[in-house]
Amino acid sequence: MAAKSTIYSEGGKVRRVVVVGGGLAGLMTVIKLCEAKVPVDLLSLVPVKRSHSVCAQGGINASVNTKGEGDSPQVHLEETAYGGDFLADQPPIKGMAEAAPGIVFMLDRMGVPFNRTPEGLLDFRRFGGTLFHRTAFAGATTGQQLLYALDEQVRRFETMDVTDEHGVAIPGEKLVRKFEFWDFLSAVLDDSGTCVGCVAQDMKTMQIKSFPADAVVLATGGNGIIFGRATLSVICTGTAAASVYQQGACYANGEFIQVHPTAIPGADKLRLISESARGEGGRVWVPKDKKDARHPREIPEKDRDYFLERMYPGYGNLVPRDIASRAIFKTCFHEGRGILNSKTGKNENEVYLDLTHKDESFLRSKLAGILEIYEKFAGTDPYKNPMKVFPAVHYSMGGLWVDYEKDARGSLKTGSPRNHSTNIAGLYAVGESDFAYHGANRLGANSLLSCIYGGMATGPSVATYRKNLEKSALDLPRSIFEKAEKREQEKYEGILKMNQDKSNTENPYRLHQELGDTMLRDCTIERDNKTLDKVLEKITELDERAKNIKCPDDSPRTNQGAQFTRHFQNMLVLARVVAQGARNRDESRGAHYKPAFEKRNDADWMRTTLAMHKGVGKVEYVRQLSYTIGGKSIERTDAVDVSLVAPRERKYEQAGAASAAATGKLPDNKTQDAQKA
Ligand SMILES: Cc1cc2nc3c(=O)[nH]c(=O)nc-3n(C[C@H](O)[C@H](O)[C@H](O)COP(=O)(O)OP(=O)(O)OC[C@H]3O[C@@H](n4cnc5c(N)ncnc54)[C@H](O)[C@@H]3O)c2cc1C
Repeated sequence: MAAKSTIYSEGGKVRRVVVVGGGLAGLMTVIKLCEAKVPVDLLSLVPVKRSHSVCAQGGINASVNTKGEGDSPQVHLEETAYGGDFLADQPPIKGMAEAAPGIVFMLDRMGVPFNRTPEGLLDFRRFGGTLFHRTAFAGATTGQQLLYALDEQVRRFETMDVTDEHGVAIPGEKLVRKFEFWDFLSAVLDDSGTCVGCVAQDMKTMQIKSFPADAVVLATGGNGIIFGRATLSVICTGTAAASVYQQGACYANGEFIQVHPTAIPGADKLRLISESARGEGGRVWVPKDKKDARHPREIPEKDRDYFLERMYPGYGNLVPRDIASRAIFKTCFHEGRGILNSKTGKNENEVYLDLTHKDESFLRSKLAGILEIYEKFAGTDPYKNPMKVFPAVHYSMGGLWVDYEKDARGSLKTGSPRNHSTNIAGLYAVGESDFAYHGANRLGANSLLSCIYGGMATGPSVATYRKNLEKSALDLPRSIFEKAEKREQEKYEGILKMNQDKSNTENPYRLHQELGDTMLRDCTIERDNKTLDKVLEKITELDERAKNIKCPDDSPRTNQGAQFTRHFQNMLVLARVVAQGARNRDESRGAHYKPAFEKRNDADWMRTTLAMHKGVGKVEYVRQLSYTIGGKSIERTDAVDVSLVAPRERKYEQAGAASAAATGKLPDNKTQDAQKA
């Protein structure tokens, strides 16, 4: 039987849900919860407005078909399933594609300054894996504009009172309480394994505290920092996901890591040059003669190899990212045709990304944000000179396994408590930290969409879950929370004390560099089983050496050394999930490419990788999952739901390969020719 009040605990306290993460996914979840009058505690490691979503550049997909090309949500679904090499369950994609136009219109109404056409309509640009203009954008700072718009909405809820069942305001209780600079440490589980809150640490005072909650939503983003250098922010270590994985949450498709084709090579970080550069007509090339030492501006058209256009005449520079990255990798690594460094005489791992044929005022109105980044970090004017780029780790298709419930149309059943639930009841995941929507390869501009759509699905899902709870977390014995706090306090003190009296200790930053170098070199674009065995050995070695870490900081406040040590320990855990998943999967699919197993193998591998933690250094890959939610026992397997778009071979060599089946025709290719002009 459900509890008497959804607002008050039996002890008269206001019941809350915790959302961890203030990126797009977290903020959208908060908004939906507040609309359902559910009070929220919002925790974030960084100020919400500095969440990594702020870095997103190119845009957000929605098949609005403003340009009359025949695009539709059905085509969007088709192309997302196809682009993801049929590893994504299709009902969530259907829900997302159908909701997308409404999401973009909602964001427009919230005040996002989207670019517009001269007639005043929303403008849409092309992105990878489609021939349609489907990507709404705000210059090249779309993520920032979206994040600030949602942040404004959440701030409104921060000022609004919680109301009781009769609509009467409860003094002193605001709908949203925000806790910035708090690091999520672990979930609090009750005796039946249900999540009833979390423990977090205030990164200013280092206080460790539990947050009792009717449900916890993790919207904690990606894990690219496992690879050392990536296009992601340095806080994207995946620590929260790794932590609940060690508490029994399933981690799915970890081996699918997206490597973006075009980033600025850098010693500290790899800064992205968004796909929008190619969407607006940017062309990738290398000199035909690998010893050509001329300045790129002096190399005439006939002496350039636009290899993506040559290999993929239909999609050209806008093939999906996995394909473009592999082509660049092949050109540089296997053929040695990267740009010649005239000083060293060596061909570098770099190719040209060229926008110099486009009008400067056009580029300023559409791409100023990213071109400014290039100029700042590369020191060259990209309006006048081709940029030098190379692939970089960018996105994690894998993440915490989350469930969904289908409706009769094959989409998501709105408000089902199963949507976005992990296999730990009461624990939800959304955004880049979940595994849904993108299968083996994410199409560009689909992530901002999946974050916002995911939030719109998760809010109502959590509200239903909470409504059916027999009692609030606040009515459980306080000892459950004290025990969890004590466990985390001891772990933290353990980190501070580790090896303090020893010499010959290890430095966590240096170990992280070794992990990153190994993962980046051996576990990204091309994978080989013997090498992956070595990666796993290296992770085992690092596990051992991590026991010898001496915390580089003993400060009682803002102790980032201790925090990094904790994150590093968690990165090691996820690195194993990624590497072991890659080692197991003997096929090539989307971003996972093994030259020794060149083809996709649907008979054996059209299945979700489900990883379960089985103690230090041990991952068990299971075929089935079961959990109980709302008194119902749910059984799930690793089978992928491909009931809406029949799997077929991916052939981007053919124009319209992804969409032709859905539309029966291709969009007007003249638009592409015009772009090249
Ligand atoms: C450079 C770049 C450009 C991109 N451009 C695009 C684009 O144009 N279009 C597109 O669709 N996608 C793009 N992406 C991908 C997209 O930006 C991300 O996938 C998306 O923003 C992730 O949002 P999120 O809400 O899941 O997580 P994030 O925005 O990463 O937010 C995570 C939140 O969790 C919090 N958090 C994390 N760990 C903890 C912890 N331990 N404790 C407490 N809080 C924690 C953080 O503080 C933060 O608030 C881009 C990615 C990069 C790297």
